[in-house]
Amino acid sequence: MSVSSLARRALLMTVAVAVAIGLAPAQAQAVPETAVNHEDSSEIALQMRLAQRTQALAGLNRRADERDRAIAGEQAVLARYGYHGDPDAVRVVLPLESYDISAAFGLTGPHWESKHGGQDFSAASGETLVAVSDAVVTEVAEAGPYGLRTILTLGDGTEVWYCHQTTADVTAGETVEAAQRIGTVGSTGNSTGPHLHLEVRPDGGDPVDPMAWFAAADLTP
Ligand SMILES: [Zn+2]
Repeated sequence: MSVSSLARRALLMTVAVAVAIGLAPAQAQAVPETAVNHEDSSEIALQMRLAQRTQALAGLNRRADERDRAIAGEQAVLARYGYHGDPDAVRVVLPLESYDISAAFGLTGPHWESKHGGQDFSAASGETLVAVSDAVVTEVAEAGPYGLRTILTLGDGTEVWYCHQTTADVTAGETVEAAQRIGTVGSTGNSTGPHLHLEVRPDGGDPVDPMAWFAAADLTP
């Protein structure tokens, strides 16, 4: 017999006794003391079980609320970086919340030795940079013209370079999650103003257009 049907039976018995006492006080007085004590203790046990169940349900509801809030919080953070889907299914987010698109991939000109190997996002110095995907940090170092550079290596071997940073918040060997802060925008190295120079290098090879890479993940910077 289940706990709830036992509890229901006990409740029915208690109600029956209470009704009997209420309707026939004279008879109730005639009930032997041991029987009254037995009913009292079963009612106390029932109330304790009910209290425990209520408490357990409240605990479950509280945990469900906490989980809902956590998911809503995660969704809000991911939405800031251009992702609006299920937090558990996130693959790629944008590297910055607030920016202007500047120099495009593939440009040639006096600023670059050959062609421009990344996409520039101009942003305020100190603006937060986040990981574009779950990744391992494979390098954080001063890198000549690239300035302070962080390299993330994604699960598929793609390297994502963040260049000209003011500060880095992660160290090589660390794992990061999509939208996790990794450092700040700056103008270190060969740079004429604060911006993120972002490179995407499949298998660590030649760079591809980051805009096309974002578009392939349904993101539009
Ligand atoms: Zn650039």
